Amino acid sequence: MWRTVGHPRAMAYLERSLGSGRMAHAYLLVGPRHVGKGTLAQDVARALNCPEDSPPCGTCSACQRIDRGTHPDVLRVGLLSDEKTGRPRTEISIDQMREVASLAALPPYEGRHRVFSIDGAELLSTEAANALLKTLEEPPPKVVFLLLSAAEGALLPTVTSRCQRVELRPLPYPEVARFLEAAGMGPEEARLRARLSSGRPGRALDEEFFRRRGDALAQAEALLSQGSGDRLALATERAASYERERDAEFLDLWLGWWRDLLLLRAGCPDAVANADHTAALERAAGALSLSQIRAALHSLRAAMEGLRRHASPRLALEVMVLNLPHMEA
Ligand SMILES: [Zn+2]
Repeated sequence: MWRTVGHPRAMAYLERSLGSGRMAHAYLLVGPRHVGKGTLAQDVARALNCPEDSPPCGTCSACQRIDRGTHPDVLRVGLLSDEKTGRPRTEISIDQMREVASLAALPPYEGRHRVFSIDGAELLSTEAANALLKTLEEPPPKVVFLLLSAAEGALLPTVTSRCQRVELRPLPYPEVARFLEAAGMGPEEARLRARLSSGRPGRALDEEFFRRRGDALAQAEALLSQGSGDRLALATERAASYERERDAEFLDLWLGWWRDLLLLRAGCPDAVANADHTAALERAAGALSLSQIRAALHSLRAAMEGLRRHASPRLALEVMVLNLPHMEA
């Protein structure tokens, strides 16, 4: 059985290639984080090595070892952690690609194909991408490369031009909700998580994301009753973490919180995304005017745009937090 949720076009295309036995040497799976690229790559790796063929059975020894990452013919390559600091490195290294190239030159050890999935292919160092390119230019038989990327623009065009491109778009919200319910989640929780997933099933199941979201929404609410000093301190802290991680997820979450306020103010409570925070949202919506909410949304969007244009994160966030309206606690 396939584990991929949704993506009917991508699945139909890959099933045709698998069924005809004419797989390309390399596929580029593109789409936002958590949309299902990793699950699809595992599905393809199983289908290429399961004795049941396609769709793979999911229960045989080959399928199970592919799931556990212990099958000798299926290798997942991604960012390694630095040995000294324990933090993830910033690039996939040439050494990792050399290992891939030497394994790719060998016939499959026990399965029908060697499968290499490269997670975050945009993170290949230039030398690593060129080493991969050499392998792709003279592809060994019975080898399939799966390059996964949420930022295909950052890949070398010489690499992407040697791959079949498969795009994964966010799923419609009811489809994510159905998937969560089928996985055993209660209907209310499934609806909430599906709404917050932005069409990405993996995100709906990511407990870390929901923890970060809890923190971000608590901050969005607290900001309203804070004075300038506390607001600036928060802006400094968030700017520092943005500089470290280049991730503006918290702004997306704050924007979602303010959008919910707008929806409540406009009399559309059923459309609220953060339905588990309704009490706090109603408190804020009752205390703020429509124009204050609109102005706050405008400030948030301006800050996001500033970060995208590489403005100083600290300056962009300071201006934004000071522009947010004030609410008596
Ligand atoms: Zn199997």
